[in-house]
Amino acid sequence: MKLSEVSLSHHYADLGDAFGTRIDPTPFENPRLIHVNPAVLRLLGINVREAQNPAWAQLGCGKELFPGSRPFAMKYTGHQFGVYNPDLGDGRALLLGEIEHGGAQWELHLKGAGKTPYSRFGDGRAVLRSTIREYLAGEALTGLGIPSTRALCLVGSDEPVTRERIESGAMLIRVAQSHIRFGHFEYFFYTRQLEALQKLIAFTCNRFLPEAAALEPAAQAEALLRHTVRSTADLVAGWQAVGFAHGVLNTDNMSIIGDTFDYGPYGFLDDYEPGFICNHSDHTGRYAFEQQPGVALWNLNALAHAFSAFVSTEALRDCLEEFQPHLIDSYAARMRAKLGLATEEDGDQQLCADLLQLLADARADYTLFFRALAHYRSERPPAALEALLPPAQHGALGHWLDHYDQRLAREDSDSRVRDCAMLAANPKFILRNYLAQKVIDAAEGGDYRPLQTLFDLLQSPFDEHPEHEVWAAAPPESGKHLPISCSS
Ligand code: AMP
Ligand code: MG
Repeated sequence: MKLSEVSLSHHYADLGDAFGTRIDPTPFENPRLIHVNPAVLRLLGINVREAQNPAWAQLGCGKELFPGSRPFAMKYTGHQFGVYNPDLGDGRALLLGEIEHGGAQWELHLKGAGKTPYSRFGDGRAVLRSTIREYLAGEALTGLGIPSTRALCLVGSDEPVTRERIESGAMLIRVAQSHIRFGHFEYFFYTRQLEALQKLIAFTCNRFLPEAAALEPAAQAEALLRHTVRSTADLVAGWQAVGFAHGVLNTDNMSIIGDTFDYGPYGFLDDYEPGFICNHSDHTGRYAFEQQPGVALWNLNALAHAFSAFVSTEALRDCLEEFQPHLIDSYAARMRAKLGLATEEDGDQQLCADLLQLLADARADYTLFFRALAHYRSERPPAALEALLPPAQHGALGHWLDHYDQRLAREDSDSRVRDCAMLAANPKFILRNYLAQKVIDAAEGGDYRPLQTLFDLLQSPFDEHPEHEVWAAAPPESGKHLPISCSS
């Protein structure tokens, strides 16, 4: 379809006034189109040639609206750092409507679009820095095969926005099959709007769980919770396997369909550091990398509490109990793939745990180590792997590799087939913080070429791209712990 043929429907706004507020965006005076995502155009069924259409500058900042748009600030609440906050909602983003394509409804959400009734003390804006981070993160996670929201286009401006310093405002159109968060259900539960809560559960089931659409409210709610428990477990397993830390796992940043959602001060691990805290403002490490599985379950408990309006305690518990086995199975499968193990043995979990302990002790680069392991051929000394660890750890590495060799011998697989499979499971390119910063620094100076390069690499992170070796390099020491704050 051509851009001029796009027209939106808006089933969420159709739910009624209890669900949010209809309000127009506050556009930029002088929008500057920075990027249009061809992959998302394809997802939406829009002709990829339309990436060149200058109309995106207007559409991407709310100056023009797609036919059928009904900009709508969604109301939700949620638990932030463990404390319930009743005052949340779309404070700087508007759900424009949705496009149906490929059997799915794709919602368009304009982020940075100005104040809404839920802005509280905020200015309703987003800055270029955080907008680029969100834009790239959606591609990075998607490229790694992990569910995520994505962005359709990125528009900059010369509008000054005050954060720790004065920055420039930007907007993106976020695209996802749903923008419903755990916090949406919490809002209706805590305000005792049980009819609306039921309506929201039915709406979500109609879209994502057609087999539950005809059930009684209690059974429907239970089915949805079970579905979310499973998809969240799978999501977190994916994060842990690739070394992604979300950074702000509040219940208002958790998607009901298990997408990675609301990117803030996220970070990919450089050195394997289980206690890695990417959010500068997270003083207690509540959202540290290794805490994510436990925190996700905490969040699911908060969601389950909202569902207690309809579902018995026993049934809620039964759903929640699926989390841990699901997470372990999903994580184990992903780690076996990273290790090149096509078969399953009892000792595999230990083999993996031993390696992670070794990487933690050595503070080795997580991504580089696994990528190098894909090229390992039982050579002694294992020079390429040793180069990633300090000499004091070489003995332990050799010891672990002896076990690994023995395990591989029982695989009975062709090593070339295994190498290919491992290269497809261990990315060469990840969205390291220092790379994101490099792209942001260039973009703030008006140079968007690094953004384009990294964007392309993140969409095919398992390919070699030999001409872009520099983007696969370990960070300099100074680039490992860049302070990333919550402000965006
Ligand atoms: P976040 O920290 O992005 O997950 O957002 C938490 C809450 O603050 C949500 O209700 C947001 O809509 C709101 N919020 C965040 N930034 C702004 C902003 N610049 N202006 C208005 N509201 C904001
Ligand atoms: Mg948020």
